[in-house]
Amino acid sequence: MAIYELARSLYEGLSQELNYNMMFSPRGVMMLCQTQHELRAFQRTAHANRLAGLDCRMITSAEVKEIVPIINDDANCRYPILGAFWQPRGGTGRHDAVAWGYARGADALGVDIIQNCEVTSIMRDGDHVTGLQTTRGEIKTKKIGVVTAGNVSTVMDMAGVRMPIESQCLQALVSEPIKPVLGCVVMANTVHGYISQSDKGELVIGGGTDGYNNYSQRGSFPALEHMVTALVETFPIISRLRMLRQWGGIVDMTGDRSPVIGKTPVEGLYVNCGWGTGGFKAIPGSGFVFADTLANDRPHPIAEPFSLNRFSEGRLIDESVSAAVAH
Ligand SMILES: Cc1cc2nc3c(=O)[nH]c(=O)nc-3n(C[C@H](O)[C@H](O)[C@H](O)COP(=O)(O)OP(=O)(O)OC[C@H]3O[C@@H](n4cnc5c(N)ncnc54)[C@H](O)[C@@H]3O)c2cc1C
Repeated sequence: MAIYELARSLYEGLSQELNYNMMFSPRGVMMLCQTQHELRAFQRTAHANRLAGLDCRMITSAEVKEIVPIINDDANCRYPILGAFWQPRGGTGRHDAVAWGYARGADALGVDIIQNCEVTSIMRDGDHVTGLQTTRGEIKTKKIGVVTAGNVSTVMDMAGVRMPIESQCLQALVSEPIKPVLGCVVMANTVHGYISQSDKGELVIGGGTDGYNNYSQRGSFPALEHMVTALVETFPIISRLRMLRQWGGIVDMTGDRSPVIGKTPVEGLYVNCGWGTGGFKAIPGSGFVFADTLANDRPHPIAEPFSLNRFSEGRLIDESVSAAVAH
């Protein structure tokens, strides 16, 4: 099956998969505004989203307290809550189940998924690719799509392409389970923390990336301490909770915080990366335009501004509100 049709059927199939795995939080998702700048910026976001037909809106600090009773609404704290951007239908997606859904869908459509198989080199003949060397043998091909996120620089380096990417560790942690206390996903960008409660009762907590480039999947203690401090200040009742587990993953950051989707200087080599801390939600759309780009050997019209050569040509994307990096 042509890659384009494959992407379309996966794209359409995903909506059904998401129905199974999307947990719409009973009280939606909110982005706290803790500075005047944040308040103004989210007002602009709310207007833009409403013009696009979304039912989000700004809410007052009193409404924040009504939706999230455990929040610290002390007006004299370091960063008082001035209001919030609220999407009442928002929620969290069960990312592992979505990945399984894609894998099942692709397998049913005849795609070979080879697991535990590391690409060790990309073979070229002059300016075009000819195949891959892997830990399980050689694969000959005229087209390669690289979607290796935090490891994109090392994989593209195998083909001699230097990427404008910084790789950093982003970590998350999960508390012991408690009775329902939080029906809303809350993001506090000024203090760098986000929190939600899973259907098992665990608080799912995250924050910003490590402040330096690295390929370590452990995550640094300063970043951990910073996010926990911020969240304890915002939600004092969680201060005595024990954390069950913590993990880190490598995220791929571009200079303008927007992704790269498209062709590369090497014929037959395509790349989709730079999704930073926000690539999960972008997978259906970015996969669709990427497949179209590969199938037709030209950028999909939506992907055109996100080309790799925007960095050498100085056409950076000034669009932080819809950027791939949430923090
Ligand atoms: C802690 C954390 C929290 C996050 N939270 C969110 C969130 O709330 N919302 C959101 O939208 N996004 C979130 N993200 C970001 C999101 O996970 C990524 O942007 C997304 O997974 C990128 O998808 P991808 O398919 O491009 O790459 P990945 O899902 O990273 O897949 C890349 C794959 O390439 C493989 N690979 C690498 N090198 C090689 C090689 N040499 N040979 C073969 N295979 C290779 C890897 O094993 C991996 O399977 C979070 C990330 C982290 C780490």
